[in-house]
Amino acid sequence: MTTLILGCILVIPSPRLDARGYLKVLEMSRFIAAHPTFEDTTAPYDAVHYEIHIKIFPTSHYIEGYTASTVAVRDTLDVLSLHFRGYTIDSIKIDSSAVGYSRTDTTIELTLPSQALPGDTLTAHVWYRGTPPSTTAGFNGGIVFDNGYVFVAFDLDIGRAWFPCHDTPSDKATVDQYIEAPLDYFVVANGSLVEVDTLDSSVVFHWREGYPIATYLTVFAAYNHFAHIVDTAYVNGTPVPVHGWVARWDSSRRANRLVNVPDMVEYFSEVYGAYPFIGEKFSNVDVPLGYAMENQTNVFIDMDLNWGRNWDWVLAHELSHQWWGDCVTLGTWADVWLNEGFATYSEAINAYRTGGMAAYHSYIRNNIMNYYIANEPYPPYPIYNPGSIWRMYSVVTYEKGASVLHMLRHIVGDSVFFEILRTYRSRFEYGNAVTSEFHAVAEEVSGIDLDWFFDEWVYSPGYPKYRYGWDVWPVGDSFDLVLQIDQIQSHNYGVPTIKMPIDVEIVFESGETLRTVVWDSLDSQVFRFTFAEAPRSVVIDPDDWILCRKYTSEIVEAEPAQPIDAKEIRISLDGDLLNVAFESKNYGYKTLEIFDIAGRLVARKGVFAKVGQNVVRIRMTACPDGVYFVKVGDRTQKFLFMR
Ligand SMILES: [Zn+2]
Repeated sequence: MTTLILGCILVIPSPRLDARGYLKVLEMSRFIAAHPTFEDTTAPYDAVHYEIHIKIFPTSHYIEGYTASTVAVRDTLDVLSLHFRGYTIDSIKIDSSAVGYSRTDTTIELTLPSQALPGDTLTAHVWYRGTPPSTTAGFNGGIVFDNGYVFVAFDLDIGRAWFPCHDTPSDKATVDQYIEAPLDYFVVANGSLVEVDTLDSSVVFHWREGYPIATYLTVFAAYNHFAHIVDTAYVNGTPVPVHGWVARWDSSRRANRLVNVPDMVEYFSEVYGAYPFIGEKFSNVDVPLGYAMENQTNVFIDMDLNWGRNWDWVLAHELSHQWWGDCVTLGTWADVWLNEGFATYSEAINAYRTGGMAAYHSYIRNNIMNYYIANEPYPPYPIYNPGSIWRMYSVVTYEKGASVLHMLRHIVGDSVFFEILRTYRSRFEYGNAVTSEFHAVAEEVSGIDLDWFFDEWVYSPGYPKYRYGWDVWPVGDSFDLVLQIDQIQSHNYGVPTIKMPIDVEIVFESGETLRTVVWDSLDSQVFRFTFAEAPRSVVIDPDDWILCRKYTSEIVEAEPAQPIDAKEIRISLDGDLLNVAFESKNYGYKTLEIFDIAGRLVARKGVFAKVGQNVVRIRMTACPDGVYFVKVGDRTQKFLFMR
């Protein structure tokens, strides 16, 4: 899901603005609770099917409900426990027998007429009514009444706030919803519309989700002023209806926002495997949610928000959740990055769809990696098992999670990477997966041990800060290049020294360019090369395949704009050691070169200059006494070298 916070109480995360200054949204609600709590639960049964009947009263903010919850018993049980909060319960039956029950704040405990054994199937029938409670996990979601709209707003525990269920993401079931509304209403829910039954003073919409669905993705939206847009995507020749239900006023502007959605459905189907809910639909529903939410087959997006000049990134994010989150659902909340990191990465895949690799890299660099670096929480914490709900819905889960996929792609290569994603999808489709299972698929498909990669990027906090420099020395007819890469990130809070293959781009005097890879794994590491030609520049990770901070890449390009006062270049000698002192007006990366009287390069060194006085030491052991020139940036100073 993706957030925008209006009217927050207490905890206010900083607004997430992307590179263009638009709000970046996480799926969080405008309704923020003070005491976020959540849990993953297990039960001695598997939920099989929910049949939910809800009659909504939009003006009195009231509902009447009846839910039949069918479960398959796994372990012998005498009491059936279902999650449920609020409401007055009128009666409960197990199959056809009325049963006694007790309640806690979040559950109902049904005493079974007789002990249920493994393999038994039970259906609990619960009749209830009242004003819907808010949820407690952090966002105050649940059934919302807002100016005629009635819809289910996300929370980690929304299921129990409107129907009795096993409310945990790993227990998926099929769902029939029968939502009864006033005659002028339309209701859209998960799956397919089976039937519309018009009664004397109300209308019942029967929607069926025939694919397993998690409780937190099970929703409906009802409104009496929807405009309907319908389009079609073709997935392997099969038509997939692509709907928009948008507010009726200004509906053509709203409809225009959705115009690329069918193309995205087709493109993601090519990249990730076929749209998972073939035979049903995909829809975007415009409700005043304060954010966007990836409900299965039924995305909610608040179209009164400013999602930027082009909304495709957020539409792509929510659409991609149909694969990542809805079809393959996080196994536990600790694995939330498997939903959100993948959906955020899919924003870049969508950028590729329209703009190729340049657009992909630009999106990764500006909207994902630099965004993470600029907004990394302090202290940093790992992607896996972030803990509190605020830490779950943060740049660590979204942007760093997306960066992990970007880096994995470069390590294993494009074709293997997308094979990993498709294998992961097909192996866990319509079920759940945890981080170790994605890790195992990545290793299996690539044939590469990736423990080190997941340990440092998923299970550890932070990212590397590389400071690098290089020297070139003529040796006989060839040139030695020494590249030193230091990792200068603090190791506080468990931030590791990062092992990574780093691309190195070397440009030679002739203009020829060489790409090579170094495996960097130490706080300070030196790499040596010998070339027939003198390198002119050295850049690490030139395409930004690593989530890192580099202290040179932009500065090299900006060098001409950084004047150096030539008069301030001063030379002093100490035996073979040459001390070059110079003044810099900017922090930046300079090239320092020594030439002999014939103009031959004698030494070259990459220098990180600080503002003010800098001193660089160069050993002249191989040089005869004589006249030399030192060049720093675009300024040159002549000097006499006499031992
Ligand atoms: Zn998302």
